[in-house]
Amino acid sequence: MPKDQNFRSGFISLVGRPNVGKSTLLNCLLGEKVSIISDKPQTTRNRIRGILTLPGAQAVFIDTPGIHKPLHRMNELMVQTALRTYGEVDAILLLVEATERPGAGDKYIIDTLAAVKTPVLLVINKADLVDKERLLPLISEYSTLYPFAEIIPVSALRADLGKLLDAVVQRLPEGPKYFPDDQFTDQPERFIAAELIREKVFELTKEEIPYSSAVVIEQMQEEPDLTRIHAVIFVERDSQKGIIIGKGGAMLKEIGSRARQDMEKLLGVKVFLQLWVKVKKGWREDDRMLKHIGIIEEQ
Ligand code: GDP
Ligand code: MG
Repeated sequence: MPKDQNFRSGFISLVGRPNVGKSTLLNCLLGEKVSIISDKPQTTRNRIRGILTLPGAQAVFIDTPGIHKPLHRMNELMVQTALRTYGEVDAILLLVEATERPGAGDKYIIDTLAAVKTPVLLVINKADLVDKERLLPLISEYSTLYPFAEIIPVSALRADLGKLLDAVVQRLPEGPKYFPDDQFTDQPERFIAAELIREKVFELTKEEIPYSSAVVIEQMQEEPDLTRIHAVIFVERDSQKGIIIGKGGAMLKEIGSRARQDMEKLLGVKVFLQLWVKVKKGWREDDRMLKHIGIIEEQ
């Protein structure tokens, strides 16, 4: 059999500054929501694997937290999580935004790639926001900064990612199908459920609140036609607890109702969601808590 007819498989890391659209791109590639999205930076805190199975190949994409100058221990760990993927993948997709010229944040990431042997494909995302003529000069400018294996403009909001996919699959080695055809993530349902709640906190609250919040699923109980989920939203201060609960509990109710709808889509059953809010001072510096929510990865 000719070589190119053999099954290919491998891992691809999605990296870039916060908010460039890494999680959006992952979801769009898979046609499934495995990674939460918001218009605020540093939404993604963990590595999220999304599995795309094609007739001749299986691509396992790893969404990562945005690479930036970290201020908290949690953010430092998040950045390390992203950088660690370099050595574990067959290709790296570096995402940048079409709306701006390469900035300090992008150059900082390009520097982290200096010694990397893995092919790096530059994905210029949000191409829908600029005129086509602006892409060419951007492509030339980026190509002076790093020997990218390819430079591909895309819009993660549109489903025309064929060229990008071809470029990725080309770079996968021959290998086995690691996951069954119908599996699109290896993230446990518990984790995604917690993430969906966190997404609503990002959606509905402002300033430091989303960053001061963590979600823990305390119980997930499957009954014949219903899944009962008990979850706790941790915040750092009493005042934040008040905001998350809202007037007469209105905010918490809204967070719960939006999260529940997404969970029902994900699980395909009715969900009964109970939410509590608790204060845990300084949890972002607390290794036990960071382990609990998967920011410190079990080795
Ligand atoms: P991440 O931090 O890199 O994972 O970024 P997200 O996937 O959370 O997206 C950040 C914001 O950019 C969200 O508001 C997305 O809707 C938006 N976004 C992502 N991709 C595109 C795109 O191709 N075009 C436009 N216009 N917006 C996008
Ligand atoms: Mg993200």
